[in-house]
Amino acid sequence: MIGKIGLEEHFAIPETLQDSAGFVPGEYWKELSKRLLDVQEYRLREMDANGMEMMILSLNAPAVQAIPSPQKANEIALRANDFLAEQVAKRPTRFQAFAALPLQDADMATRELERCVKDLGFKGALVNGFSQVNTPENCVYYDAPQFEGFWDSIEKLDVPFYLHPRNPIDSWSQIYNGHPWLMGPTWAFGQETAVHALRLMASGLFDKHPKLQIILGHMGEGLPYNMWRIDNRNAWVKLPKTYPAKKTFGEYFQNNFYITTSGNFRTQTLIDAMLEIGADRILFSTDWPFENVDHAANWFDAASISEADRLKIGRTNAAQLFKLDL
Ligand code: MN
Repeated sequence: MIGKIGLEEHFAIPETLQDSAGFVPGEYWKELSKRLLDVQEYRLREMDANGMEMMILSLNAPAVQAIPSPQKANEIALRANDFLAEQVAKRPTRFQAFAALPLQDADMATRELERCVKDLGFKGALVNGFSQVNTPENCVYYDAPQFEGFWDSIEKLDVPFYLHPRNPIDSWSQIYNGHPWLMGPTWAFGQETAVHALRLMASGLFDKHPKLQIILGHMGEGLPYNMWRIDNRNAWVKLPKTYPAKKTFGEYFQNNFYITTSGNFRTQTLIDAMLEIGADRILFSTDWPFENVDHAANWFDAASISEADRLKIGRTNAAQLFKLDL
């Protein structure tokens, strides 16, 4: 399929490059760092070769979220966003942008979000999970009350918020002790991000801000497969609801979430996701440069789904969600 749009597509600036160093063994780092620092050359050739018209770009992970000093986090976010704006300006028909945000401080993040969307024309924000604030051990999740104004601003600007994975900090990772292979994309990323998403749903965030749209990568971080069970476990036991939100988790998932195919190129999984959240809320993505564009595109272009759904997932859903001028 030509004209595909992807939206979990990363780059790095020199200040954040090392954050991605641990994800591939030594000899691959040269290639990965080259891919991360490039925007206009290697990346564009991959897009052209695989029918990808546009990437909505975002900074690598955890980057800004792992800088405990709010001032320093803000400084790096601004630098990355300014760099990204320059890159998009060179080829606005091929690249658009997500803002990196210093959520160590909700007001600071709100100011940067507004600058990025109103002044730089960014299409939304992509945030790498919880933020470490002041000390590496102090992790904040975005269901906390201090983010009320931030969410208000996201809703008013009418832009999506991409909740991207990061690993849990060491002191919270006991379950993975002795099993380092479970960190990152293998398992810990999905677990961390799915729980964060469920916290947002349970907190009542979407009752207060019903128009908010959150995007999850990797075919929904395992949530489509578990939505029914989350709302229906032990259904014979009648108990009052134990979380503040008014609706079921499934209702929020279907009304306030989109998922992407990033890094999860499996037709069986896609079909389950289509049955749970619907083809209107699934968006093609690759997770470049951690995954290959050709791996994503070759799978998606041949996946056994209808051509109407392929067009929606590959292109028109994103065009609509991000109000792209194609
Ligand atoms: Mn990613």
